[in-house]
Amino acid sequence: MIRQQTDAVVVGAGIVGLAHAYALAKRGHRVTVIERHPFASSASVRNFGMVWPIGQPLGPMRNLALQSRDLWLEVCQDAGMWFEACGSLHVAYHEDELQVLNEFAASAGEDVGVVLSPEAALQRAPQLRQEGLLGGLWSPHELCVDPRTAVAEIASYLTTKFDVDFRFGDSALVVDQGEVVTDSARISARAIVVCPGAGVSGVYGPLLVKNGMVQVRLQMLRATPQEASYRIGTHLCAGLTSLHYQSFRDCPTLPHLRARLEADHAPLLENGVHVLVSQHADGSVTIGDSHHYGPHHMPYSSEAVDDMILGYLDTFLPTDKLAITQRWEGVYGKHPTEPYLVLKPEPNVFVVGAIGGAGMTLSFGVGEKTVVEQILPALEKI
Ligand SMILES: Cc1cc2nc3c(=O)[nH]c(=O)nc-3n(C[C@H](O)[C@H](O)[C@H](O)COP(=O)(O)OP(=O)(O)OC[C@H]3O[C@@H](n4cnc5c(N)ncnc54)[C@H](O)[C@@H]3O)c2cc1C
Repeated sequence: MIRQQTDAVVVGAGIVGLAHAYALAKRGHRVTVIERHPFASSASVRNFGMVWPIGQPLGPMRNLALQSRDLWLEVCQDAGMWFEACGSLHVAYHEDELQVLNEFAASAGEDVGVVLSPEAALQRAPQLRQEGLLGGLWSPHELCVDPRTAVAEIASYLTTKFDVDFRFGDSALVVDQGEVVTDSARISARAIVVCPGAGVSGVYGPLLVKNGMVQVRLQMLRATPQEASYRIGTHLCAGLTSLHYQSFRDCPTLPHLRARLEADHAPLLENGVHVLVSQHADGSVTIGDSHHYGPHHMPYSSEAVDDMILGYLDTFLPTDKLAITQRWEGVYGKHPTEPYLVLKPEPNVFVVGAIGGAGMTLSFGVGEKTVVEQILPALEKI
C-alpha cells in the first residue's frame, strides 16, 4: 500500500470537491483528490449546467451565488472552458404568473431582474410560443456551462495549473486521525474535506443522513433541434418554477398562483415537475425535471413523468422543433431547511454535502467560504 503525505485530501471529484480543491490549491496548498470512479459521473455531470443566482433568496445566499458565479467565470476563462453568459427568462402565460414576477421584480430591484414585455421577451428568446405570452422576468446574471465536460476539464486544469494530484478509480474507505485510507493508499493530511454527494452509504454518507440529508431523484431529457440554427437565447422556465425556488417565497400572489397550479396541474405537482431549459455549444437542449424525495433504490424512469415534463414544456417552447435524443436520471442530496451542510466529525475533517438542486450554482462560493472561514484557520493552528 502506497503511503503519502499532503496538506489537504479532498474526497469526491464532483463540482463541490473540485471547488474546495481549487480554493485550497490556488492558495498554495498541496491537494490530493480521491474519486472512486474513473471519472466523476454523478449529479455534477447530469445537470442543466445552469449557474442560477436568480433561484437563491435575496441576501446572503444570493450574494454567495453571485460570488460563486464570479469564481466560475474566473475558472472558465483561465481554463479556456466553454461557457455562455446567457442570463435567464421566467416566462408568464397567465396573469397570476406575471403578477408574481412583477412583485418579485418590484421588491428585488432592477439589478436583480426586470419584467419584459412579450415583444422584448421574444427578442431574448425567439423560439418561445408567441400565443398567450404576457411577458417574462429577465435576469442577466445566469451562466451556462456544459456539465458533460466541465468537471473533467476543471480536474485537468487543477492538475496542470496547480499540480493537484487526482486519484481516479480509488475509493476512500476510512477517514481516521488525520489519515485517509483508500483502496490502494494511506494518505495523511493536515485537512480532510469529504464531498461525497448524495450517497447514503460510504464515508460520511450516513452522517449526512443523520443530519437530515434526503435523496432527491430527477428525470432529465436532451433534445437535438431539427434546425442547426435553432437557439433558445437564454435559460428558460415558466410559471411552475415560481413555486420551486425560494426567491419567490415572499411574493403576495404566490399562494394564489400555487392554488391555481395545483388545480390545473395536479399530476405535475405530485411528481415535483417544473420545467427548465438550457442549451449548450453543440446546440443540444437540456430539459427537465421532476423531483421524487426519499431513498433512491430503483433505477427505473417513468415515461409518464417524461411526458408531463414535455407536455408542460410545450406550453411555452414548442416541442415540434425538438427531437429527444437522451434521457437520464440524477440524484442530489438535500436538507429540508439548510442550503447545505458543513459537518466536522473529527478535528480538521470537514464534510460538505446536501447542497441540493443548486450545487452547480453555489459550489465555488461554498468552497471559497468553507476554505477561508473554516479550513484555513484550522490549518493555521497545526
Ligand atoms: C438532474 C440534476 C439537475 C441539476 N441541475 C442543476 C443546475 O442546472 N444548476 C445547479 O446549480 N445545480 C443543479 N443540480 C444540482 C447539482 O448538480 C448538485 O448539487 C451537484 O452536482 C452536487 O455536487 P457534489 O460534488 O456534491 O456531488 P457529486 O456530483 O455526486 O459528486 C460526488 C463525488 O464523490 C465521489 N465519492 C463519494 N464517496 C466517495 C468515496 N468514499 N471515495 C471516493 N469518491 C467518492 C462520487 O463518486 C462522486 O463522483 C442538478 C442536479 C441534478 C441531479
